[in-house]
Amino acid sequence: MYCPECKCEYTGWSGKCPECKNLLVEEAQSVIPEVAQTISYEALVDKVKARGGVYEVGLSATSIAQEKKWRFPYNGYGYAWVKKMKGDSNEISIELNTTAVGRDTTWRFPYLGYGFAWAKSLVGSIGGTEVTLQATKVAREKKWRFPYLGYGRAWTEELQGELGDQLHLHLQVTEVGKGRDWRFPYLGYGFGWEKKAILTISLDK
Ligand SMILES: [Zn+2]
Repeated sequence: MYCPECKCEYTGWSGKCPECKNLLVEEAQSVIPEVAQTISYEALVDKVKARGGVYEVGLSATSIAQEKKWRFPYNGYGYAWVKKMKGDSNEISIELNTTAVGRDTTWRFPYLGYGFAWAKSLVGSIGGTEVTLQATKVAREKKWRFPYLGYGRAWTEELQGELGDQLHLHLQVTEVGKGRDWRFPYLGYGFGWEKKAILTISLDK
């Protein structure tokens, strides 16, 4: 499903957009294909050097996945994670895809189920150079509502990686999306996902 307002894909979601409450539509109606600009690694290093050794660029989620599971009798587990992020700057084309999702569940007597999912590793391209980022900091929270609805949420706060042999990558999540859902009688589903981030490309010291 796709939100025409947020220009974001929501896999496994239905009904309204968790962000802007517009109705989600079946397909991406006007996804303008991004021109993936490639630049040489040397040019990339020069760009970072030109900014004093630290280059920051904003990223936004363009695809978010959601899943609901339950366990007998009334434990609901909700999961959400970012599937795709894109760079906000036109100067360097950045696209990252989640290739590994971390998951965990806990529960509490009698029917409180908490599901957690987070982006564990991202693989993609920065100006045409392939990169891998690994989660180094993950946050989670548990909420509940009377009588037995449990809402678990998790999201990655930080990821790190290398860009070639001269540049280091640090991705800081700056905005987290949150949602919840429930089903009769006591199934609670909590969702947390990585929504916006700042990617810092810096010269290795
Ligand atoms: Zn929306």
